[in-house]
Amino acid sequence: MLHVPETRVPRDRFPVIDIHTHLSWAAARKNGVSVGEEMTYPAPPQVLLPVMNQKNIRAMVNLTGGIGRGLDETIQRFQVPYPGRFVVFTEPSWERSNGADYPQFQADEIARARKAGAYGLKILKTLGLYLREGVTAGPLVKIDDPRFDPMWETCGALNMPVAIHVSDPEAFFLPIDRFNERFEQLNNHPDWSFYDRDFPSNAELLRARNHVFARHPKTSFITLHVGNNAENLASVSECLDRFPNMYVELGARIAELGRQPRNAREFFDKYQDRILFGTDAVPYGTETPQQVFGGDLYEIYFRFLETEGEYFDYAPAPIPPQGRWRIYVLGLPEGILKNVYYENASRLLGLKES
Ligand SMILES: [Zn+2]
Repeated sequence: MLHVPETRVPRDRFPVIDIHTHLSWAAARKNGVSVGEEMTYPAPPQVLLPVMNQKNIRAMVNLTGGIGRGLDETIQRFQVPYPGRFVVFTEPSWERSNGADYPQFQADEIARARKAGAYGLKILKTLGLYLREGVTAGPLVKIDDPRFDPMWETCGALNMPVAIHVSDPEAFFLPIDRFNERFEQLNNHPDWSFYDRDFPSNAELLRARNHVFARHPKTSFITLHVGNNAENLASVSECLDRFPNMYVELGARIAELGRQPRNAREFFDKYQDRILFGTDAVPYGTETPQQVFGGDLYEIYFRFLETEGEYFDYAPAPIPPQGRWRIYVLGLPEGILKNVYYENASRLLGLKES
């Protein structure tokens, strides 16, 4: 029942790189682990480009570009015909991760992907929460397992940033009951809960991730979803201070940032060179209403970042999907907006100035 002015931002002030989108997926998954090289493509570039042009999105970075022949196909569909508009990342071959030759094989595959045109490597939360010693069965593989060291090192040597998702919101590690602030979301997706069973705690997962950052200082890590700890910006700040090779991305976490606007504004002031714009956009992604690709989604992000204003919906959905609250805005100055929208990502990806 709050009556406050609404500031629409139909087009943002500066060109944007959306560093976190999913324009392709592995066609097959088993127990949360991608298997095979075949890909599916929810929407072709022709559907995406009109929205991008209208909203001033210079480039979309498709993180889940796949592996092997699947990666080659993704690059052929997006990056080759539309250079500068679509950027493709590759992924690890999780299926091979328990082979004796895996460490070197994976390093070589990263180098091959680079030659094929991939700009970076994407790590889904598969690592830490799904991948097991027998790939789909057995004990969980640790994020800092040394078998991945050659992979991280190769990414650093080839200037390929690693976009990494580790763990999930704190609430996903708590019982699904009336005390859980994401009760509705977890009730809709009980499989997103990592409470109990053999899952490590949120803190253990982030600690293992930090070991990787410390061990590979020449590799740049883009920690998705505000370092996967948007509820605790003090902790994210501490990590950023400790690891100069760490960056953060905003995707699907403006619900968290916008309910602590003063903390968030301070965070943007301090780390404006290390924050990247991203939405986690999924074309037709009805399973994740806060991420459905389209003009409405971008307008919400622009309004949150650019305007002064009050309490509004953080997702293009009738019911707030990540918890029943609304958000406040940041009203960032132009210098910070330019960095977050474009400059930081462009530098990390090594894109040529156009
Ligand atoms: Zn994502």
